[in-house]
Amino acid sequence: MRFDGKVAFVTGGAHGMGAVMAKGFARDGAEVAIADLLADEGAGVVAEITAAGGTARFERMDVTSNDDWAAAVANTVEAFGTIDILVNNAGISGSAFDDPLDLEAWNRLMSINASGVFHGHHHIIPVMRANGGGAIVNISSISGIVGQDNVHPGYIASKGACRLVTKSAAVHHANDGIRVNSVHPGLMPPMLTSGATADPVEREKMLKRVPMGRSGEPEEVAAAVWFLASDAASYMTGAELHVVGGYIAA
Ligand code: NAD
Repeated sequence: MRFDGKVAFVTGGAHGMGAVMAKGFARDGAEVAIADLLADEGAGVVAEITAAGGTARFERMDVTSNDDWAAAVANTVEAFGTIDILVNNAGISGSAFDDPLDLEAWNRLMSINASGVFHGHHHIIPVMRANGGGAIVNISSISGIVGQDNVHPGYIASKGACRLVTKSAAVHHANDGIRVNSVHPGLMPPMLTSGATADPVEREKMLKRVPMGRSGEPEEVAAAVWFLASDAASYMTGAELHVVGGYIAA
């Protein structure tokens, strides 16, 4: 998959799976905008991409802020000319909240993980439409497909919203040449070492439910994102890829 001449905008690209996605887009020819709250980490990813001969810039932004989105998109279009690919990856975990009835947690999860995705559509779909098309990949979760007992319901609801806003946008913008798909990671190392699953017994219990018997790697999620963002997926829109080691097939 090559992205020569394309511009990719990756939220949450300063850390974790987003950083892996951003580096892969740059390695395969795209100019990359990394949008995140974490300025130092973002600058680090830009430096790595630049050192490897790629092109990237960092935008410090909060995905819940309409003003931040407007500024980051304007700066990116000014610097790179347009935006062809959007990956709505920024998110917070739902396993860090102990109380499943905590209202503040619900509001926070919904505003970052669900409204953050819609902000991305609101600001970048007009740019893509003017450009004749584009590809959007929204990062949901296994928790956007099934409920889980050790995850805050706000996480489940926010990732479910991410899944369905993907399908809605896919239908609305199919005739604009814009493809919108979602990727659903399963048990990945960061989640497996924090929150409820920091407990080894709990972790073992969750891993036992994975037919492949292991957690995933960031590169295995990024590969699904690169595929959906590329021309190799030219007839795919409104689709969801489950990168979960078979977790929900059984
Ligand atoms: P991570 O914590 O390593 O990275 C998330 C990034 O998002 C961070 O750089 C963070 O600063 C950024 N971010 C958070 N809130 C933000 C905000 N308001 N504005 C801008 N940036 C913000 O997490 P990760 O494990 O790489 O997760 C990436 C995505 O994958 C998330 O949407 C997450 O919900 C989803 N996911 C992760 C797992 C997992 O096990 N790691 C499983 C399923 C889904």
